[in-house]
Amino acid sequence: MRERHRHAILRYTHPLAVLACILSLHSPAYAQLALPAHFHVAPVYFEFVEAMAGHSPTFQAQLLRIATAPDVTVHLEIVPYVIGARARTRMMRETDGLTAWIEVARFDNVVELIAHEIEHVIEQIDGIDLAGGAGMAGSGIYSVSSRGAAFETARAARAGVTVAREVARSKEQDRRTF
Ligand SMILES: [Zn+2]
Repeated sequence: MRERHRHAILRYTHPLAVLACILSLHSPAYAQLALPAHFHVAPVYFEFVEAMAGHSPTFQAQLLRIATAPDVTVHLEIVPYVIGARARTRMMRETDGLTAWIEVARFDNVVELIAHEIEHVIEQIDGIDLAGGAGMAGSGIYSVSSRGAAFETARAARAGVTVAREVARSKEQDRRTF
């Protein structure tokens, strides 16, 4: 009885504390739902990436592809700058699967760049031959290094722009609703 009473007082005198408990209880479950288990990003960016998924169906679909692909590990880092680019993804395919290290420059359009780089990972899940495609007219694949070790694709560029547009539109709608 005494416990119940104390609990009731806590509720009514500290509504914010109660709200914080509810939020912290819910966020791990949401994180599990939104971010694939093999998608590694610093905890400080969890909310940011989850919010992207909340605002963009295209980004949700991208995360689902990562989550359901066997043996794919993604490391996302948001860094002060990336030498010679706005972002880059290094990928390595080994016998135990595909590992991708994504670096995105913090002061650029981070939403667009994350989605863009994630699409490069999905291209590899789909088995796209970048080196082969770069030589073909109309493939949407371009070699961007003289040594032929770096590529750009129209598909990744499109994914980045689409997600950025969806996030901007959804945020605008939220602003009007509330
Ligand atoms: Zn790219």
